Amino acid sequence: MVWFAIVGGYSCQYCSASFTLNSNMLRHVRTKHLNETPYSCPICKKGWSRPDACKEHVYRVHGLIR
Ligand SMILES: [Zn+2]
Ligand SMILES: [Zn+2]
Repeated sequence: MVWFAIVGGYSCQYCSASFTLNSNMLRHVRTKHLNETPYSCPICKKGWSRPDACKEHVYRVHGLIR
């Protein structure tokens, strides 16, 4: 795969950040530059870019322990 031969892997088109995984780069672009928060709290609708941060919020703030 040619892509993995590139030093730094995938680079962001908006800034100089680089990522080893394409999916990480796409997530970075969506959350940092497009202000998307794909993971949102089902209770207060606050959004996060990372699923673990969202889960932790739900557990801590709303007291939901699964
Ligand atoms: Zn960027
Ligand atoms: Zn919430």
